[in-house]
Amino acid sequence: MDGTIKILSSNKLKVPVIGCLKTYERLPVVPDPKNVTISREADRWFISFKIDVTVAPTDKIVDVVGIDLGIKALATLSTGKIIKGTNSYRKHEKKLARLQRKVSRKVSGSANGHKAQVKVQKLHRKIANLRKDTLHKLTSQLCKNHAINAIEDLNVSGMLANHKLAKSIADMGFYEFRRQMEYKSELYGSKLIIVDRFYPSSKTCSNCGAIKDSLPLSERVFYCEHCHLKIDRDLNAARNLEKIGRATAKFTPVDNLEPTPLVEAVVKPTQA
Ligand SMILES: [Zn+2]
Repeated sequence: MDGTIKILSSNKLKVPVIGCLKTYERLPVVPDPKNVTISREADRWFISFKIDVTVAPTDKIVDVVGIDLGIKALATLSTGKIIKGTNSYRKHEKKLARLQRKVSRKVSGSANGHKAQVKVQKLHRKIANLRKDTLHKLTSQLCKNHAINAIEDLNVSGMLANHKLAKSIADMGFYEFRRQMEYKSELYGSKLIIVDRFYPSSKTCSNCGAIKDSLPLSERVFYCEHCHLKIDRDLNAARNLEKIGRATAKFTPVDNLEPTPLVEAVVKPTQA
């Protein structure tokens, strides 16, 4: 439907076949939107536009930050900052379970069955929106303020096999986190470093580099027998990721961060 949809005012648009539509939310100010999708979720209709945005690099406050995504907190930064998750799913979980039971009791196809189903879908949407909102705030903050963000390449599918972890991971929306980090890094001119999933960020001492044989998930404090460092488990992991980020950034050209002045880029002939 490219180019066939016209935005008439802040809340009115014209769609072929259907005609004029009024929207609940303000429409974007674009003369001629590309790629318009109309979809239905629960009992509401949604319209989404794909628009071209100009990249707007921001001034960075911190150079390199390691980010450990966790179960207890949504994210622990190597700077010591902790960002708590919403745990939105768990908060609404009981209500959702109750509604789902209701749906299963109703005769499928009946009017009441349909009503209950819509309620479930609505709650799902609410939870998803809460989660997305938290993640958006976090990823914007990270990409706007840090020149380099180092995150772990989580083996999400492997972790999902662990049932206990699965719920927390789904709750935190790790896939979505990475997706947002990727496009926002580009948008705000920061660099994203994804650390290999086999790097033992949790088991390595961020002070002396000694690696533990094992570190059960229940152990919240990292204690190093070699240098006697005692540190929060997630903070230790975040500091290790920061180290990798720093080391990696040194060897990779950071194009969109600090453009090398042309004069410096000229290779001077070495004298024999
Ligand atoms: Zn140590």
